[in-house]
Formats: sequence, structure tokens, C-alpha cells
Amino acid sequence: MTDIDSRGFETRAIHAGQTFDQVTGAVIPPVHFSTTYAQDGIGGLRQGYEYGRSGNPTRSALETQLAALEGGAHALSFASGLAAEDALLRAALHPGDEVLLGDDVYGGTYRLIARVLGGWGIGVRVVDMSDLAAVGAALEERPARVLWVETPSNPLLRITDIQGLALLGHEAGALVVVDNTFASPALQQPLALGADVVVHSTTKYLGGHSDVVGGALVLNDDALFEKAKFLQFAVGAVSGPLDAWLTTRGIKTLGVRMQRHSENAQVVASFLDAHPAVERVYHPGLASHPGHAIAARQMSGFGGIVSIALGDAASARRFAESTRLFQLAESLGGVESLVNHPDEMTHASVRGTELAVPPEVVRLSVGIETAADLVADLEEALARL
Ligand SMILES: *Cc1c(COP(=O)(O)O)cnc(C)c1O
Repeated sequence: MTDIDSRGFETRAIHAGQTFDQVTGAVIPPVHFSTTYAQDGIGGLRQGYEYGRSGNPTRSALETQLAALEGGAHALSFASGLAAEDALLRAALHPGDEVLLGDDVYGGTYRLIARVLGGWGIGVRVVDMSDLAAVGAALEERPARVLWVETPSNPLLRITDIQGLALLGHEAGALVVVDNTFASPALQQPLALGADVVVHSTTKYLGGHSDVVGGALVLNDDALFEKAKFLQFAVGAVSGPLDAWLTTRGIKTLGVRMQRHSENAQVVASFLDAHPAVERVYHPGLASHPGHAIAARQMSGFGGIVSIALGDAASARRFAESTRLFQLAESLGGVESLVNHPDEMTHASVRGTELAVPPEVVRLSVGIETAADLVADLEEALARL
């Protein structure tokens, strides 16, 4: 389809990069496992394919699909979300540069910058990105080369006004990066709101079935794209063909999945909000959430993550260990519901840092099962506290 970029989101999700096989007519393009490509004479490459690390048609198809969904000129697919982040940060930063990071981002992002890139001269400061005045003050105090935000954030679901942040960041000469893993492009498209780069852990909603680890970058700037693409090739953290194919297959149903995730999460959040054993519910779909109005403006749904605060750490542990339908596991964004105790699980690496998550918080990844079953499971677990 040549006019694919003008089509609706679900049409792009299903058709971008998915031309039927020219030889057999197979509607689903084959997975290309070959590591190398025959040349028509030395240097005579067919469509630029030479060796599996530098390029693979299945990976190219996924990259075309990702760019179409985020409305970006370029996309790059990696072996994990962190591999994508690493390539971007190394492409954008030089020793002595600093990253201004949201104080409620994925723990692994902080660990990558502070403990890996830190050794190569990259600095990191954290700030509450949902407070633009605080971001402005931090930039005035000292410039930052990169502003890095998650909105909604992980696991406290804080909301940042992307348009406002992009204006602030660009005034200060910073690159504005949005980790769009929680919303996915089905609900929020940061490039259209002024962000420079979108980062994804495709392991989560894009893959959507908890069966493939991957990551991606989507961006418009040609020079930064070339640098990141060079690192993808020269460092080699590429997605394998089957991983790329599974991700592409998952993405085809992203639109309907995100709609159901959002509906179920709203039901779950409203139930928990009314429950006496729950101290606080974090979900942008609740009118009482401080970021509700901004989320309603910049997102087309509030997503599938709901976090709650229980009375204390012991209650949080007990609750997380006693649901039955919500399985106790790290990660999020799959069709099945998961429960996680961030302090001891996903965010254990930031314990004792400025990014530490309160130990009474439990994060729920609300799946697309029957909503009444999910509520019943939570009700029973709360009754056991
Ligand atoms: C999981 C996650 C990452 C890291 O991605 P991996 O695929 O696990 O490497 C980055 N950002 C967010 C918001 C995540 O949830």
C-alpha cells in the first residue's frame, strides 16, 4: 500500500511493511532467517541486504511498521528496550554531557545511565517531570543534553505534558526523549506533540503476548538516525528474525488490545478506589488523578496499568502473593494480568536511590480477560489481607 501513511492507525498497524510475498503470493511475508545474502557480482546487493546484523527483511518490515505507527521518518529495532536506549544515548551524548531524567522512570533506564554510561563520563540528574516548573528550574541551574521522560511513568503513573516539556527542552537546547512503552502509539504519539525521539520496550504492549523481548527507537532527525543506525550495526544488539516477526504479529492487534486494556483498567481502578483497604489508587483515568486533564488531552485512552498503595509494605507483599488470576511476575503489557511488587521486583535496582518506589505500592498490569473475573480476583485477595 503506497499511501499507507494517510490511513488510520489500525490500517497502518496491519498493513505497514506487510506487502504480500511477490514470488508465492503468501499474504503473510515469510520470516527471513538467512544470515547472509547472495551478491550479483561483488558489491551487487539486492535491496541493500548484505549480512544479518546490518539488515534483515523481517526486521525492516517491523521498522517500517513502527515508524508508521509513531508517525516518524525512521525506526530502528533492537534486541531489547535497554539495547535501544543504549544506542540512542551513545548516539546523542558525549563524555561530560548530562541526562535530566524523570524521577519515576523504569529502574533499568536509571541503572544504564548511572552505572554503565556513568563510567564513560555521562552524568545524570533526576527531577519530577510532571512538574514543568521544576524541570525549568533544573535546566536553568545547569544545562542537560537530553531530557528523558516516561508518561505515564512507571510505576506511579505520573503524567507529563509532552508539548510543554518539548518547548522547555528545545529552548534549553536539549533532545527530548519520550519512553512511550506504557501508552503505546495506539494511545499517544509523542513525535506529533513535539518530542524528538520515542523509545519503546516492545517487550510490553507492542509485542503484547509476553513471548518476545525487544526494543525500538522512532525519530525524525536524519543525522541522529544515522548515528543510532551505525551503533545498531557496529555494536550489534539487533532483533533476531523470529523476534521481529512475533513483534510485528503482535502489533497488528495493538489498537483493539489497548482499547480493552484501558476499559478493564478503568473498571479495576474504580473498584479499588472505592475499597476501604486501598489507601491510594494511581491511574490517570480517575478524575482525582492530578494528571487526568493532561492525559485526557494527549492520550486517546488511559492505558492498562493501575498501581495502588496499601497500608504498609507487609500488606503489599501479602496482596501481591495472594491474587490468583493476576500472576505474580515482572513485566507488563501482555494480554494476561500480572501483579508486581516494584520495591522488591522491577525496581529493586533503584532501592535506596532517588528513584526508590514506596514499599507499600503494588503495580497491576491489567490484561484483557473478562473484567468481572479480574475484579473478583482482586476482591478475594483484599479480603485475605
Ligand atoms: C521494560 C521497560 C524498559 C526496558 O525494556 P526491556 O525490553 O526490558 O529491555 C524500558 N522502559 C520501560 C517503561 C519499561 O517498562
